[in-house]
Amino acid sequence: MGVTEISKKYIMADFKCNECGATRSLSKTTTVLREKEWVVKEAECTCKEGKYMDQIFDDSYNGMPSLIRTEESLTKN
Ligand SMILES: [Zn+2]
Repeated sequence: MGVTEISKKYIMADFKCNECGATRSLSKTTTVLREKEWVVKEAECTCKEGKYMDQIFDDSYNGMPSLIRTEESLTKN
């Protein structure tokens, strides 16, 4: 039985279960392909079998800077 695994080393990655709301911080994660879905092996939740937590990406992960539009097109009369 071949299992595809990708090991990643994070400084710290936070995970949250969208089922029961439990959170977990992991410094090392192993991403495995499970039923056509990439899941983090260490983030398996205890509330339900086969339930995996989702990674929480904080602001530093956000590659999309919030666009603040300062339009100076208003003309003062
Ligand atoms: Zn859970």
